[in-house]
Amino acid sequence: MKNILMIATGGTIASAEEGNGLAPALTGEQLAGYVPEIAKVCNLDIIQLMNIDSTNMRPRDWLRMAACVEEHYDAYDGFVILHGTDTMAYTAAALSYLVQDSPKPIVLTGSQRPMANPFTDAKLNLFQSVLYAASDTAHDVAVVFGGEVIAGTRARKQRTMSANAFISVNFPTLAMVRGERIVRAGTAPAAPAGPVFYHALNERVIVLKLTPEMHPSIFELLARDYDAVILETFGIGGIPEYEDASYERAIFDWVDSGRTVVLTTQVPEEGLDLGVYEVGRAYADHPGILKGDDMTTEALVAKTMWALGQTRDASELRELFYRPINHDRLPM
Ligand code: ASP
Repeated sequence: MKNILMIATGGTIASAEEGNGLAPALTGEQLAGYVPEIAKVCNLDIIQLMNIDSTNMRPRDWLRMAACVEEHYDAYDGFVILHGTDTMAYTAAALSYLVQDSPKPIVLTGSQRPMANPFTDAKLNLFQSVLYAASDTAHDVAVVFGGEVIAGTRARKQRTMSANAFISVNFPTLAMVRGERIVRAGTAPAAPAGPVFYHALNERVIVLKLTPEMHPSIFELLARDYDAVILETFGIGGIPEYEDASYERAIFDWVDSGRTVVLTTQVPEEGLDLGVYEVGRAYADHPGILKGDDMTTEALVAKTMWALGQTRDASELRELFYRPINHDRLPM
């Protein structure tokens, strides 16, 4: 039987109503106790790394999770991380960059309703996550939720209440879990040759969503606290150029000062192409401006933090940024 390590961090799955709204209360041991069927699938050990609402999760917590996986990597065949759903997509992306090319699966799951709720989705999510983590054909970081297996860099929380909370953005789901079976189209990919662990992130990264009339002087205000701006442009890549306010000047000044700009779109699906409209062309070929292309904003946040954690050299940064990792972008 496989040995699986479950790392409990909190979230709705562990939550109970204690008079002031739902808050994490149950331990990982208690949660596993609700799903005795796990014993038929694997030997499960449990670590309680933290017990928080994922709203409070931040890069230092992602580093702790990656360090926990690294410390126990040789002793286990797979890992299941119990996590709140609200920021799970960010954590899944961050772990995809912190633990690369992992032949052993690192699965994130949680639930929309607490484990003790009579209508909970927690039991099936936990069971199916363990099942996937114990399968021979699973590798790398993935979210298992609502019967879907989603690459860790492609997940997005799309629904606030329903059991099918997550979608895979601009990329097919890796597999489905139906009952006790993992169902894939075609053959499973070969195991990667890693793992490669990374230990640094630069958290000075912010996402800015363009809205009509937003003033480009916002970049000057951000310079004190941030090294990188991920700008969610309009449509396939539109950035305004007003008669009385120049985004071109603000963005080129930001890049010339040694900071990073990543352009993406605020449209939920299909990605960026700056070459299509005149309103994006000025940015299309500038070597200092990084293009998110088909990546999710969640993955762009994590990847930019990871890449800036490794280097500040512009050409090294480009190389890291455009390197496809755990299916995060289609190869150029
Ligand atoms: N607020 C909760 C969390 O993210 C929501 C959930 O887990 O579904 O921790």
